[in-house]
Amino acid sequence: MTSRNPKNLKECRSCNELKPRNQFRPISGRGRSPLCKTCQNKKTKKLLKAHYKDSAPRLCPCCNEMKPTSDFQAKVSNLMTGKLWIANKCKDCRRSNFLTRSLREMFEMMREKGLNV
Ligand SMILES: [Zn+2]
Ligand SMILES: [Zn+2]
Repeated sequence: MTSRNPKNLKECRSCNELKPRNQFRPISGRGRSPLCKTCQNKKTKKLLKAHYKDSAPRLCPCCNEMKPTSDFQAKVSNLMTGKLWIANKCKDCRRSNFLTRSLREMFEMMREKGLNV
């Protein structure tokens, strides 16, 4: 037996290198990613690049405008299957939603403190 596989090492399913466990991102409730951070970053970039390159403009249901895919935030939700999560609203709408929400929360907080706003 020449194989040396100490418990703190893990084999990356992409580059097949044995790397320390802290080089693998934890996945909530499912241990750690099968890919090392380097491969994960590379694969994520590649998937997103392909997504932005190939996709047609999308209709944002919030502002009712056709916008390029690059205006919709995308994240890789499953690296092994290449499944993406894509925001249904464009970046502008998401940002303004966020702003209105934080403003409203601020006003509510001030009212609770007895301020007249
Ligand atoms: Zn790797
Ligand atoms: Zn929009």
